[in-house]
Amino acid sequence: MSAQIIDGTRLATEMRTEIAAQVADLKANRNITPGLGVILVGNDPASLSYVTAKERACAAAGMLSREIRLPEETTQNDLLNCVEQMNQDPLIHGILVQLPLPRHIDEKAVINAISPAKDVDGFTPVNVGRMLIDEPCFLPCTPHGIIQMLIRAGVETSGKHAVVIGRSNIVGKPVAHLLMRKARGGNATVTVCHTGTPDLAHHTRQADIVIAAAGRPNTLTGDMLKPGAVVIDVGVNRIPDTSRKSGFRLAGDAQFESVSQVASMVTPVPGGVGPMTITMLLHNTLESCLRTCATTLP
Ligand code: NAP
Repeated sequence: MSAQIIDGTRLATEMRTEIAAQVADLKANRNITPGLGVILVGNDPASLSYVTAKERACAAAGMLSREIRLPEETTQNDLLNCVEQMNQDPLIHGILVQLPLPRHIDEKAVINAISPAKDVDGFTPVNVGRMLIDEPCFLPCTPHGIIQMLIRAGVETSGKHAVVIGRSNIVGKPVAHLLMRKARGGNATVTVCHTGTPDLAHHTRQADIVIAAAGRPNTLTGDMLKPGAVVIDVGVNRIPDTSRKSGFRLAGDAQFESVSQVASMVTPVPGGVGPMTITMLLHNTLESCLRTCATTLP
């Protein structure tokens, strides 16, 4: 079998076109532009490239993006003040603090300082709690992007067995919850695996859908799959590669060559989950702006 590629770039473009049309409509009819505030601390090259990609996507969708770039040695108090400025800014509907933060800053304290009404990453305890009890909230971008991919690629989740590799707060736990939700793109039976799972392959071989979010290359190989399974590869691993100008290439958590021989569908890295993550950030920022309109405009 040679798996069909789930093209995240194409699906993301499709969604971004829909979002841009809604943004244009808001501007034309209500004179309001959705705005994303981005805070970047330090000079981590990966963070810088993520932030640049997010800002470009914002501009392409017709949204406003406002960036605050702070030096590595910024104090936690100064950062908290910037977050508060954005909380109060009526032109900003969504706030993104790029993670990871420098070690001397308490990441939780900073996330908790973001107003839940502008928490378009869906990381604050209020949004996480609301998600768990199926109340209106901002869903975290990567897990939500994965569910949208499955829906738009025509993958049935209801009644299927999904195995999630990874239990982080930003990917593993929330995607497991969204897959089990009684909702479109959910209603699956979900198994969550992690480093305490003695025999990972025992679980993945029973899966109709595998979500690989371990952050380790080759965590999932073809012999660990049931024939015809769908594989969503979330991992982004930088593999040293001296033949490239950058000195590295990107690889997912799945060993693409062997997995694509057994799976029916697989996401590539790059060009899979990544573009969908950014798209869901735009989606949440638009959503936040629409909520503001609903509460402030006649
Ligand atoms: P993380 O916080 O490091 O969590 C990794 C999880 O995987 C942990 O729960 C860990 O288990 C588990 N794990 C690691 N090795 C394992 C193994 N061999 N077998 C079973 N479980 C294993 O990482 P994350 O933030 O969730 O991100 C995961 C990957 O997705 C990373 O490569 C990251 O760069 C990528 N990512 C991509 C996007 C995107 O938009 N494309 C967005 C977010 C993250 P323990 O809990 O037991 O340690």
